Amino acid sequence: MKYLGAHVSAAGDPAQAVLRAVEIGADAFALFTKNQRQWHAKPLTDKTIEAFRTACKTHGFDPGQILPHDSYLINLGHPESTELEKSRAAFLDEFQRCEQLGLTLLNFHPGSHLKKISEGECLARIADSINQVLAETRVVTAVIENTAGQGTNLGWRFEHLAEIIDQIDDTSRVGVCIDTCHAFAAGYDLRTPEACAATLNEFDKVVGFAYLRGMHLNDAKSAFGSRVDRHHSLGQGNIGLEAFTTLMRDPRIDEIPMVLETVEPAIWAEEITWLRAQVANT
Ligand SMILES: [Zn+2]
Ligand SMILES: [Zn+2]
Repeated sequence: MKYLGAHVSAAGDPAQAVLRAVEIGADAFALFTKNQRQWHAKPLTDKTIEAFRTACKTHGFDPGQILPHDSYLINLGHPESTELEKSRAAFLDEFQRCEQLGLTLLNFHPGSHLKKISEGECLARIADSINQVLAETRVVTAVIENTAGQGTNLGWRFEHLAEIIDQIDDTSRVGVCIDTCHAFAAGYDLRTPEACAATLNEFDKVVGFAYLRGMHLNDAKSAFGSRVDRHHSLGQGNIGLEAFTTLMRDPRIDEIPMVLETVEPAIWAEEITWLRAQVANT
């Protein structure tokens, strides 16, 4: 089963995100549980929590079909200790919000070294950040997203993800989300079935499909290997539709939320319908 959806707005109330997912015919979705551009958010009220849980139940969304995303401000590998602590505190808050909402996954970008520490040191800090949050919570799995490698962001090579996972104490609560635009921009080709297969095999060899907990399905405005993160609608960017057909038919990618972060929400319903049609004859 391929669970397909989009990163919908939770503006107003997280329960609204569920309804927005239903509107586009999704059986998966992503959301922010707080404003992604602010450090602080009001705690979730019992009423908000209840409304979200009820909406999920009513519309048949299990926690495994929902992939919340954390704030963009958080840098779990920050080179400076005060800033690192601030990020870690915000990350813990994100985990707790997810647990309150009955969610089991949290998707995040690993972190940036800001040219002040080595890649290895930064990856070790990211792993420490994850270990701390896992020790302080009980349910949610930390889902590390591969990045495009823009600026000093780490996580653009599969080896970075593997190096983080290697340092995690409880590997049952760590996973990975592959973003197709990020992978492509980072130099992993997806344009033909052969290239797609080679990239997925490389992922399996370096990280392992056992860790795959979600995918972001995005075409790329940015060029292959450009290390620039610019999403596009499916088939309108430099990756092309064939890649998404191949992904929809890969039996190794199953039972995980596959979420569009494409640039035109007005065509998400259409994109989801098209993706489902690709699975049809498998
Ligand atoms: Zn993404
Ligand atoms: Zn992106």
